[in-house]
Amino acid sequence: MTAVNGLDPIFQYIDDNAERIVADLQELCRQPSISTTHTGIEEMAAMIRDRVGHAGLEATHNETPGHPIITARLAGAGAKTLLFYNHYDVQPAEPLEEWVSPPFEANIVDGHVIARGSTDNKGNIISRLAAFEAFLAVRGELPCTVKYIIEGEEEIGSPSLESFVVANKDLLAADGCVWEDNTVRERVPNLALGNKGLCYIELRCRTANVDFHSSNAQMYENAAWRITWALASMKDENENVLVEGFYDGIEPLTDKEEDLVQKAATYDGKTRREKFELRRFVLDLPDEDLARRHLTTPSFNIAGFDAGYTGEGVKTIVSGRARAKLDCRLVVGQDPEKIHECIRRHLDRHGFDDIETELLFKSYPAKSDPESAVVQACIESSRRLYGEDPVINPFGNGSTPTYIVIKHLGVPLSSTGVGCITSRTHSANENLKIEHLIEGAKYMAGICEAFGKL
Ligand SMILES: [Zn+2]
Repeated sequence: MTAVNGLDPIFQYIDDNAERIVADLQELCRQPSISTTHTGIEEMAAMIRDRVGHAGLEATHNETPGHPIITARLAGAGAKTLLFYNHYDVQPAEPLEEWVSPPFEANIVDGHVIARGSTDNKGNIISRLAAFEAFLAVRGELPCTVKYIIEGEEEIGSPSLESFVVANKDLLAADGCVWEDNTVRERVPNLALGNKGLCYIELRCRTANVDFHSSNAQMYENAAWRITWALASMKDENENVLVEGFYDGIEPLTDKEEDLVQKAATYDGKTRREKFELRRFVLDLPDEDLARRHLTTPSFNIAGFDAGYTGEGVKTIVSGRARAKLDCRLVVGQDPEKIHECIRRHLDRHGFDDIETELLFKSYPAKSDPESAVVQACIESSRRLYGEDPVINPFGNGSTPTYIVIKHLGVPLSSTGVGCITSRTHSANENLKIEHLIEGAKYMAGICEAFGKL
């Protein structure tokens, strides 16, 4: 097959095959693959291996202590290797009665595929495969070598991914990585170049083996007060975390990151205030400061608290037990294990050695160089397809585990793909607009092409 210059024939091929691309997505969505209940996982993994193989890549099924991981590879033109990451598992579909069309029928309603997984993450898988297929059909080869890793435990915290990546560094070695997905904001793609870390800690206190009649409250310690006083010692009313060492090691922003934070769209505070009936933002932050605070600072959040009687009406007791859940979103330089140690030390120093702590979940923060080739390739593809630069979040907001690729493989990445703010991922009526799926395939093709040339 003769090589054809330019992406137009590739885009044309994607347009000509749009119906089949949509049918491919519907087929994947009709196979449930709910990781938290282990529903349909083996069937889905087999289907993904077949589908990736059908696209022309050499696909392998890998067993792990958890759900299977599918890897794939295909050599392409040029010396560069681009790694793609996605996941085939989905969130549960409940509440079922809220869906306008059943979550695993993948019907088309008003130009959208309605299904659990349509955006998160099967639409993203299909957009990548459609791009690879177009190159192979039109040119007979990919513009760069492509590797693919598709796991089945992302929605439950990716417990098998890190050990698999560490054990398969050569297999997965690459020059850049296109991660999972991201939302498209008003037709302009978003890129996230890393992730926040997460330190999730449970605090527990027991002051007695029973709850007492509250007429004894003058005598007996109340566990709820113990946890309340402990929490109050950890953060002041100006949002300063008072846990010694919490801020240690946080890396300052580079000039380029500073620039990207400046360019981040100003958050529309008024709309959010109205929509969510917010009384105010913390510290009365003005709109122009919201993005900086959201993107660049760690959080120290009480995710839950329970103690004593919280049902209807009156019940008078002294609570013998209390529990709180703390979650801290961490920025680069912070380490969840060290944060846990800091909190433990803080409690001991402040007279709360009766409060137990347990680190329930941890993940590490990471970020990629905004100047890296994969980011430049995303920018170039966005300019070509949408006529504009993408919106770049240099750090990422969530805790999808990009650190595994950034830290263990030393590969810079950009999280980008199909879906938008109205795709309702994780909620009822998850959907993907067909137009976005087809555009997403072209966007992926543009990234491969630009990356091969950089
Ligand atoms: Zn998800």
